[in-house]
Amino acid sequence: MIITIRQDTNSEDRAQLMALLCRITGSQRPITTTQMHEREVIAIDSALVDAQAQIALQAQNAVEQTHSLTTPYQLASRSFQSENTSITIGSTTDCTPVTIGADSSQPVIMAGPCAVESRDQLLTTAQAVKRAGAQVLRGGAFKPRTSPYQFQGLGIEGLHLLAEARTLTGLPVITEVMEPGMVETVAQYADVLQIGTRNAQNFPLLLAAGRNSKQLPVLLKRGLSSTIEEWLLAAEYVIAAGNPNVILCERGIRSYDPQTRNVLDLSCVPLLHQLTHLPIMVDPSHSTGRRELVPIMSRASIAAEAQGLIIEVHPDPNTALCDGKQSITPEQLEKIVHETAMLARMMRGEV
Ligand code: PEP
Ligand code: MN
Repeated sequence: MIITIRQDTNSEDRAQLMALLCRITGSQRPITTTQMHEREVIAIDSALVDAQAQIALQAQNAVEQTHSLTTPYQLASRSFQSENTSITIGSTTDCTPVTIGADSSQPVIMAGPCAVESRDQLLTTAQAVKRAGAQVLRGGAFKPRTSPYQFQGLGIEGLHLLAEARTLTGLPVITEVMEPGMVETVAQYADVLQIGTRNAQNFPLLLAAGRNSKQLPVLLKRGLSSTIEEWLLAAEYVIAAGNPNVILCERGIRSYDPQTRNVLDLSCVPLLHQLTHLPIMVDPSHSTGRRELVPIMSRASIAAEAQGLIIEVHPDPNTALCDGKQSITPEQLEKIVHETAMLARMMRGEV
C-alpha cells in the first residue's frame, strides 16, 4: 500500500502517522518517505494492513490518500504512477545535464571504457566519445572482476580522473559503486551511481544508494539471473530509501550457451514499460560480449523502446585492460549514435 502524505502536514500529525505505521509494520524497516511528484509517499506491505488498520490509516490527518497495489513492488509500479519518470543527470556538477525518461527525449548514449586505465586513456576516450555524440561518459574506477588477479581498477585515482574528464568535455559521468561505505565518496565525483549486476541484490548497497546525500540517479543493472520482479524489487529498495531516481539497465542474463557472454533479453524492455514508470536502458556490450554484435543490438534495443544505451568504447580495444572483446572504437560509436537517433526520430513519426 502506498500512503500519500498531505502537503501541509504538521509535525504532530506526521509523528502520529509514523507511530501508527511502526505499529502496523512491526517496524520491520525504518519508515522513510520518498518525494515523488511533489508529494511525500511511503510504501508498506499491503498484506499487513487489515480492515482495522485501513480505517485507522484513513483517519489520520497526515494522510491524503492510500493506494492498494497487488504487486510486491509498489513505488516502482506503473499502477501507482502512470507518467514516465524523467531523470536529469548532471545537475550538480560542471557539465551539460541530460534528461532520460521524458517522452520526447532522444536516446541517451553513455559511453566510455570499461575501466579507467590511465589519465591519457581516459581523457582521449572522453574527448572521442564526446565527438561521437554520446551524452554521458562511463568508466569503472572500482571494478568487480571475476578473478582477484585481474586489474581491479584505479580506485579513488580513477574517480579524480573521471572528474577531470567531465571538466574537460562537459559530459556527466557514470561509475560503479561496489560497497555501501563508498557511496558518499563515489557520489562526490559521479553524476550517476552505477550498481552492477553482481550487486543487484546487495540490499545494504541499494539502501545506501537510495540515501545518497546528493540524491544522484542510480543506474541499476539487472542481476545475472534476476527475474524481472526481483529486479523491480531491487529498484524498490532504492526508491523506498528516499531516492526515486532509478534507471533500469538490461545487461543480459546467464544462460547455457557460451557463444555470447550473456543472453540479451530485449523483450523485457517493452514489458518493463508496462510494469514500471522508470527509464529503461540496455547494455549491448556486457550482454553480448562481442563487439561485432554491439551496433545491431544497439539498434534493436532502441527499436524495442529502450530510452538509452551504455556502451564500452576504447581507443584501442585489443589492448584494453578489461572487456576489450566487447569494446568498440569511437568511430563505431559515432555511427551507432547517428543510427539510433534516426531510428528514434522515425519511431516518433518525425521522419
Ligand atoms: C560495467 O558496466 O562495467 C559492468 C561491470 O557491468 P555489469 O555489472 O553489467 O557486468
Ligand atoms: Mn566491462
